[in-house]
Amino acid sequence: MRIFKANNDNIKLAATLINNGGIVAFPTETVYGLGALASNKNAVKRIYEVKGRPENNPLIVHIYKIEQALSIAKIIPPDAIKLIKKYWPGPLTIIVPYNPSSNISFMARANLDTVALRIPNNPIALKLLKLVNAPLIAPSANTSQHLSPTSADHVKYDLFNKLDNEKDMILDGGDTNIGLESTVIDFTKTNPEILRPGGLSIKLINELIKTSYNLAKINNQRPLSPGLFKKHYSPKATLRLNADFPIEGEAWLGFGKNPKGINNFININLSEEESLEEAAKNLFSMLRHLDKMQVKKIAVKTIPNKDIGIAINDRLYRGASN
Ligand code: AMP
Ligand code: MG
Repeated sequence: MRIFKANNDNIKLAATLINNGGIVAFPTETVYGLGALASNKNAVKRIYEVKGRPENNPLIVHIYKIEQALSIAKIIPPDAIKLIKKYWPGPLTIIVPYNPSSNISFMARANLDTVALRIPNNPIALKLLKLVNAPLIAPSANTSQHLSPTSADHVKYDLFNKLDNEKDMILDGGDTNIGLESTVIDFTKTNPEILRPGGLSIKLINELIKTSYNLAKINNQRPLSPGLFKKHYSPKATLRLNADFPIEGEAWLGFGKNPKGINNFININLSEEESLEEAAKNLFSMLRHLDKMQVKKIAVKTIPNKDIGIAINDRLYRGASN
């Protein structure tokens, strides 16, 4: 598997590989995405295979300008327009009715008559999308259910043997800025719902549209969206949430000032300054780090449930589920 620094020449090469039906892992501002042409059924099928992702879990279509969204969607409701005008490019995904005369493979949409759309806010991703000049699907570049990748090394760790040495590549653009996935809003209902909390806070969304979208409840029997099962984003270690101190055999994942005596345990801190942004950025890479140390159990300090902390707690809750 080839890993290339994301300079102009290599982004051009990436666009060529994608146009030939290949797969390219590339950085976005949220996490690394695994990109392929959304119109190419075979490439889309390979993405599902490489990730081990169930084919009933639809993929987000990535674009670089709002006009593309207007042709892929049958309709985009006024509130969604308001949001994308302000927050695209950015960590916001909208689910809208699909325009059947558009060219997104049914596999990418898991056969639904809806489609998920986003413009990512990362110069490498935007350059690649412009060069390809066609919508790309880009689910997180990790094995299904594992932690999302926030660096090219994480992608390599998960997918090294699964990508082709000639047809595919990884573009290394350093660590991702936000570190958690996009916020997903379902606009196909009369009362839109937030299916996944993410990089754009619910507070900012509700401030702009002057109403209050609710966060959909996690329900394993009837997942809100095909991919939103409870268990997801899982490290190998078991997580114990809202802890005050580790017990014997646990490592400590802290937030804020470390408790006294913590150095008797393996420990790492999401943000000593209590910055939720810093914690979001560190979450997946620190969990991967503890897995690498072969820690079996992790006690996690309480994370304030506000702003991006809501998304952090969602990932921790799912990571703790089995
Ligand atoms: P990921 O690709 O890992 O970032 O996950 C994308 C999320 O968006 C998954 O939870 C999908 O189930 C969800 N999603 C994508 N497309 C749709 C759609 N058309 N309807 C409902 N959920 C969707
Ligand atoms: Mg994912």
